Amino acid sequence: MYFIIRCDCGRALYAKEGVATRKCVCGKTLKVKERRVFQKVATREEASLAVQEMQDKIYGNTDFKLASDL
Ligand SMILES: [Zn+2]
Repeated sequence: MYFIIRCDCGRALYAKEGVATRKCVCGKTLKVKERRVFQKVATREEASLAVQEMQDKIYGNTDFKLASDL
């Protein structure tokens, strides 16, 4: 089981069940138990996908404008 959590910096990360802490790319170490769990998934692949989907939602894909929209 993997938990999808979010850092204070806004990034989404996943943590394997039973792991106490997870380090975000911003440098902050998160205590997994103290974080709100957004989603629980079974495999690492699903976890990685869920994080990607959450990042897309958070940042709204604003950096990926179609050439036709410009
Ligand atoms: Zn962070």
